Amino acid sequence: MADAPSIADALDTVRRRIAKAERLAGRAPGSVVLTCVSKTQAPERIDQALAAGQRVFGENRVQEAEGRWAERDRTDLTLRMIGPLQSNKASAAVALFDAIETVDRPSLAKALAEAIQTQGRAPELLVQVNTGEEPQKAGVAPADLDGFIDALRKDYGLGPAGLMCIPPVEEEPAMHFALLRRMADRNGLSVLSMGMSDDYLTAIRFGATHVRVGSAIFGARPAA
Ligand SMILES: *Cc1c(COP(=O)(O)O)cnc(C)c1O
Repeated sequence: MADAPSIADALDTVRRRIAKAERLAGRAPGSVVLTCVSKTQAPERIDQALAAGQRVFGENRVQEAEGRWAERDRTDLTLRMIGPLQSNKASAAVALFDAIETVDRPSLAKALAEAIQTQGRAPELLVQVNTGEEPQKAGVAPADLDGFIDALRKDYGLGPAGLMCIPPVEEEPAMHFALLRRMADRNGLSVLSMGMSDDYLTAIRFGATHVRVGSAIFGARPAA
């Protein structure tokens, strides 16, 4: 087996591909944020990404992220929560994360609103949309989205910044990205977190402002 590229080299490749996709889509250079998905990675591997200049990281579990990031100097880092969030972890998530991409139900919105109020800290909030309407997947159903966003604004005093989706593995992601974009536009939202290792270039064509890339940087994750 050929040696895997170093994390620095892999990051460089992903960044160059993003820059090219921005150009081809007529997007401003640097308009797409690369969220480096560091879930399950060993600390030395995260050190390598940091040494290569990466500053935005995505995690999918609050406790794991606390263990990994709470002790580090986070002054110029951005941590984004991209996994399902239990309401009883909302307070810890507000304390740790700069963005929470997985707001998807009133009970969680309520818990987040309370934590934001108490802590005086307001992470950027995205609503996760279950664009494929998959029963096992988190996220608001497309038909319920506009009502949910209204409720966030009116009932909870939360101003969501945008939307996030994880398309079904079996389907063409482009139609899901296009749908997410339309739903964001009609709700006046500017942040679009969509695209992972296999489809981030497509997502950029469809207007992604944030792409979440793990295995293209770190290599395949060990099976859970
Ligand atoms: C793990 C994960 C990613 C990264 O997936 P890769 O295919 O390894 O790039 C992106 N988004 C979410 C929500 C994830 O859980």
